[in-house]
Amino acid sequence: MDLELSQATKYIFIVAIFWLAAGLVFFNRDTRREMLARPLSIWILDLVGLTIHGVLVPVFQYYIIFKSMDYLVPEYRSSIVIHPTVGFLFSFVFIDYLYYWNHRILHTGFFWRFHHLHHSGESFDVFTTSRNSAITTLLIVYIWMNGACIFLIQDRGGFALGVLLSNLLDLWRHSRIGFWGRFFPFSIFCSPIDHSWHHSREVYGRNFGGNFIIWDKIHGTYYANRELPKKFGLALPTETIWRSFWKGMP
Ligand SMILES: [Zn+2]
Ligand SMILES: [Zn+2]
Repeated sequence: MDLELSQATKYIFIVAIFWLAAGLVFFNRDTRREMLARPLSIWILDLVGLTIHGVLVPVFQYYIIFKSMDYLVPEYRSSIVIHPTVGFLFSFVFIDYLYYWNHRILHTGFFWRFHHLHHSGESFDVFTTSRNSAITTLLIVYIWMNGACIFLIQDRGGFALGVLLSNLLDLWRHSRIGFWGRFFPFSIFCSPIDHSWHHSREVYGRNFGGNFIIWDKIHGTYYANRELPKKFGLALPTETIWRSFWKGMP
């Protein structure tokens, strides 16, 4: 019951922030023009992506991972006793570090086919946050770890807070709002400008970080620029984009 309550609160927050970020986008003339120029099929693609990430992923985490573990190894439910602060740091910092490598691997060889769709957006806005091939969700490390950790950790409040903040930061870095992100302490996070360069056509293979940009600084993949890129995305034809959604092939 407490799990369902915390999940419901989390969704209310995320949905509210999403619409706030989406609404603020329309104050920027260039972004507004780009968004209104998107064809209907691209809107559908992004709404499908947001539905997968916002509805099917939580259902998958709860009913597949959580319930399966409860069925297979019920004795481990709530078996890990850690302070909520440790749970928070595990979720917000450690899993984020794993995600940095997860994301970097998705940019290499065979795996690129499952991630390139995320880079197809020629506009940069919150609606593209969850654009990915149908199967890509299963290749994201935190999708699996979140369900398992919620099952294993006794006091899951800290961990759940880390998941909530990670989701909000994901929306923020795709939003083009909040350029105070370049100033400390916000500069330790991956800001919209940092992530916009990850989506640019001019630079490739930089700024893989999720919550934190410091992973890129540590591993030499950081690209710094104070301006937004001029061009975004891979400019794939719409038919190719839909084929990529189903098959993950360019
Ligand atoms: Zn990427
Ligand atoms: Zn992105």
